Amino acid sequence: MDRIIHPHYFYPPLKKGGQGGFAVKRVCQGILPPFILKRMAESPDKITRRWALENLAASAAARATRTTLSTLPQMAAIPSPAGKKHRLIYDAQHKPTHALPGKLVRSEGEKGPNGPSKDPAVNEAYDYSGDTYDFYKEVLNRNSLDDRGMSLISSVHVGQHYANAFWDGEQMAYGDGDGRTFVRFTKSLDVVAHELTHGVVSHTANLEYQGESGALNEHYADVMGILVKQWRRNQTVKQADWLVGADILIKTFTRKALRSFSAPGTAYVNDPDIGTDPQPAHMKQKYEGEDDYGGVHINSGIPNHAFYLAAMQIGGKSWEKTGKIWYQTLLSLSPRSDFAAIAQGTVEKATILYGSRSPESKAVKQSWISVGIPPK
Ligand SMILES: [Zn+2]
Repeated sequence: MDRIIHPHYFYPPLKKGGQGGFAVKRVCQGILPPFILKRMAESPDKITRRWALENLAASAAARATRTTLSTLPQMAAIPSPAGKKHRLIYDAQHKPTHALPGKLVRSEGEKGPNGPSKDPAVNEAYDYSGDTYDFYKEVLNRNSLDDRGMSLISSVHVGQHYANAFWDGEQMAYGDGDGRTFVRFTKSLDVVAHELTHGVVSHTANLEYQGESGALNEHYADVMGILVKQWRRNQTVKQADWLVGADILIKTFTRKALRSFSAPGTAYVNDPDIGTDPQPAHMKQKYEGEDDYGGVHINSGIPNHAFYLAAMQIGGKSWEKTGKIWYQTLLSLSPRSDFAAIAQGTVEKATILYGSRSPESKAVKQSWISVGIPPK
């Protein structure tokens, strides 16, 4: 499998006696936003600080190549032998990301040496990428990320104490976490489905990873992440926790998850390691700064909350109606689509699917009004 993109970035060790340099080769759309890493770099704990600095260097290196790969998603897709569910799990053996994917340790349907592993990270990456594939196939009638059955490739044990997970345009990569704030990033089904959905987005609307379109890229990754989790657990909208990344965080009384759909801005508050969740729930609090590519992990709170409000109003199981409306809208968006476009698009899709006077289309319209983005 020839790699299309070959940039070579390398970061030397940031501190003497540290964990060594961390090189990044390709695009990263990490689940963890840079502002959390920046906050961790100011942690009172010395080890947390040091690893956060190394993670930050890795994330910064990724930015330059994102645009290149986002223009070529179809070229990066690796066809699977049979055009159906096909998972490959690699062990990166704590090497930096230029060494991805690593050693093949588990492949689709195998028993014996490349079958079920003693390593929970391997099995989680396998099982959760399978759940994500099944969700897209059974609920949304989509055959893998490219809708042509591309293989789902994951590497686990990426880097040293690497507290992040990312989709690089070709594959998933998961770190083991720093062990103080984060555990291994395969542990959350919603994190796995989030990262794979970046692959779906790059094969559909290909939303530019900057400003409002970037926040929509993050929004779709969060929405599908949370839908796969609710679907797998067979939860109604009332039973669901509406949290992203709860299972990768070592929970304390100041932190319960990375993001919250029901109450953006409350997932962590005054935490000594990661600070306070900066997500707004309304356009009035929209972040206008330049950090985080113009707030892609921050302002996604606004459409996330609109999705939550619509799903609660429509009721039942969120993937059955609300999820379909959102997915159909994704197929109609384009790289520069903004918040107004998704608000308009979801109302139009709800009208096509359920009628203009239906409770569904009214619920969707009202949800956007509630977050300050009234559709026409
Ligand atoms: Zn993401």
